[in-house]
Amino acid sequence: MIASCFFWVLIETDSLHVHIARSNSRMSGQVEEINPLVRHQGGCHCGTVKFEVWAPARLHVYNCNCSICVKKQNRHFIVPGSKFRLLQGEDSLTTYTFNTHTAKHMFCKTCGVQSFYVPRSNPDGYGVAIHCLDPGTVECYDIEEFDGDNWETHIVKTDIKQRSEDKK
Ligand SMILES: [Zn+2]
Repeated sequence: MIASCFFWVLIETDSLHVHIARSNSRMSGQVEEINPLVRHQGGCHCGTVKFEVWAPARLHVYNCNCSICVKKQNRHFIVPGSKFRLLQGEDSLTTYTFNTHTAKHMFCKTCGVQSFYVPRSNPDGYGVAIHCLDPGTVECYDIEEFDGDNWETHIVKTDIKQRSEDKK
């Protein structure tokens, strides 16, 4: 797995944050053309929770600095709800919420691993932990720093909400 997909990522250098990588609309069109969805599988550590998710082989990953993502090192990519399917382990999931209680932090109650969750930014989709995918389907990924510590001011500067929209 290559850590960066430089060929389709623009680095915004005028941002307050180091390395905010975003693709503009023109680039996004190209991304879809050359970046079809593939089936990734993943799950928790003990193997109770398993899921499949349809997403590009070249993933756009968010690294969030909010209070909980920092503690969990929750690097994740966003998919529409329709692209995610829990294969097993529903009864073993425990959900933790806080603050606005919009985000649903689901984790395996046996091993404690959060392999996916419902993010506050995308309550109609899922955030999937890239480190919880089975090996073999990720070609490369780029990382966008998400300033979740200043969520209200940062959310309007990103296109993260569009990432859980079903494409036509
Ligand atoms: Zn587990």
